Amino acid sequence: MTFKDLGLSAAILKAVEEKGYTKPSPIQEKAIPHILEGKDILASAQTGTGKTAGFTLPVLQYLSDTKHPKYRPLRALVLTPTRELAAQVHDNVREYSKYVDIRSTVIFGGVNAKPQIATLRTGVDILVATPGRLLDLHDRKAVSFKRVDILILDEADRMLDMGFVRDINKIISFMPEKRQNLMFSATFSKDIKKLAAGILRNPVAVETAPQNSTAKKVTHKVYKIDKSKKTEFTIKLVKDNNWNQVLIFTRTKHGANKLTKKLISAGITAAAIHGNKSQGARTKALKNFKDNTIKILVATDIAARGLDIPLLPHVINFELPNVPEDYVHRIGRTGRAGAVGEAISLVCSEESEYQSEIEKILKEKIASTIVEGFEPTDTAGPKRAASQSKGSFGKKKKGGNSGSSNQNKPKRKPHFKGNKPAGATSGRGRTGAPKKKRF
Ligand code: ADP
Ligand code: MG
Repeated sequence: MTFKDLGLSAAILKAVEEKGYTKPSPIQEKAIPHILEGKDILASAQTGTGKTAGFTLPVLQYLSDTKHPKYRPLRALVLTPTRELAAQVHDNVREYSKYVDIRSTVIFGGVNAKPQIATLRTGVDILVATPGRLLDLHDRKAVSFKRVDILILDEADRMLDMGFVRDINKIISFMPEKRQNLMFSATFSKDIKKLAAGILRNPVAVETAPQNSTAKKVTHKVYKIDKSKKTEFTIKLVKDNNWNQVLIFTRTKHGANKLTKKLISAGITAAAIHGNKSQGARTKALKNFKDNTIKILVATDIAARGLDIPLLPHVINFELPNVPEDYVHRIGRTGRAGAVGEAISLVCSEESEYQSEIEKILKEKIASTIVEGFEPTDTAGPKRAASQSKGSFGKKKKGGNSGSSNQNKPKRKPHFKGNKPAGATSGRGRTGAPKKKRF
């Protein structure tokens, strides 16, 4: 199967070729034909499998196949949960649309709205946006959704987690009922299925990997350690192994800042990326990390979501996420494109419960290691089974991977509930592209 076999135009194929893609990824191969047919889809695939091109290419094909109405109304809208992801998706849209007459732009908060409004006024065919700023600009009449033919929800599960359901439904309420809806998600929770049921019409389910599965070539490793020793241990890990590019996850923004400071004082170049950082700081941190100006990027789950960081050999979970699906997303940052990756988690006694939840969705036990000099002293956690695996350094001691305890049971973050889609419709999606002006 080639991109040409999928029925994409020469102009799009040329751009794809320039990106160096030789053949479509499995998700692209499966999703693109349905999208070109005008069907709604609900697609799930692991992180890093090319979902962006999976929806962008057929949408560009549709937009360039159909005549632009004179005043160039917005016809395709991509919603993403984070600014970084919006910027990244838009970079892709720009690259893939290099040789077609398609105008695009990206809208997100944290930056001046004026230039965004000015660009929107010139007329764009496809817009990539985060929900908050988009609604703001809609309120200010800078954008209209009345002519939107295709709605794309990228990283829909994260949008749910971030509480964007109301915003999404509000945006949808301004759209025509007849439209095509594409929903992409790396994981599938009950809530996501509920959201999908409200928005999608007769969707084709496109799946390329077992749900919630992680990249095959990722090895998981847990170090049992006291909370108070985690920083020192992280510094040791990075220094002893001479790691040059490591993504570290913390649970909180404050934790990310604190760890970053400690790393820097230990002589390791690092930057934090999270929601309290200015857009400029976030963009700079990501750029410096990508071009290796800094060794460590310390991120919260929300900030890291969907970032395209290629070939990352190591991801460290400084703390385990309290939502197990987030673990899957985190380690989606490693082992991409067939490369081997290592997902390391530093687990203190009170996090044992999180570990067992993660093991449940991974359907595998993660071997635990205890490193000499960093033995956990906090015994409030579960009784440890004496199962072992070899550590990177130091002598192994006792440890365990049993993970259930009622003591210090961490509270789970409440999952989003009850999404009643305001704009949900029962009409049919568009059928058969290309098509003429409607409505
Ligand atoms: P996802 O959204 O599924 O996490 P992305 O769309 O961000 O994945 O793609 C991940 C990486 O794979 C990007 O660097 C992208 O350029 C690359 N990529 C996408 N499609 C292909 C392809 N057909 N062949 C090779 N690389 C691809
Ligand atoms: Mg993506």
